Amino acid sequence: MDKRDTLQSPADSPNRDQSIHCTACESSLQSPGRESISFLLLDQFTIPLVGCDNHLEEFCSICGLATEGSAELLNHRPAGGVHCPSCRHAPHRPHQSIIPVGGGGLAILACSTHQSDILDRFRTGLQIRHHLNSSLDAFSTNP
Ligand SMILES: [Zn+2]
Ligand SMILES: [Zn+2]
Repeated sequence: MDKRDTLQSPADSPNRDQSIHCTACESSLQSPGRESISFLLLDQFTIPLVGCDNHLEEFCSICGLATEGSAELLNHRPAGGVHCPSCRHAPHRPHQSIIPVGGGGLAILACSTHQSDILDRFRTGLQIRHHLNSSLDAFSTNP
């Protein structure tokens, strides 16, 4: 009996999210200092972020899709500071989750509540962007 092994690896490798392909992001993540922290102003949130400019911009614009207000990126601490006391202390804590954005990765230096708030926006924004792209592009190569 001919037993054929039909194990096929999918064309799109699913393990792309695990590594950061952007050296600029990587170097900001490796040496996070006051200089390298940016702030995302989204609705009532002020979220400290670390990453390279390009991917911060991308993150900001994706989150902006998921809000009716505006998403703004600051390279300096905003005048009012960070309102949430837990977020204010978050940059000093060792554990940061790295969020894959495009080929890069950002660290969200917020408390867990606001981290999940902003991630919700990000995921919603990604879906909206995907939807926009697929309706713009009639020739979708991805089934
Ligand atoms: Zn980057
Ligand atoms: Zn917070």
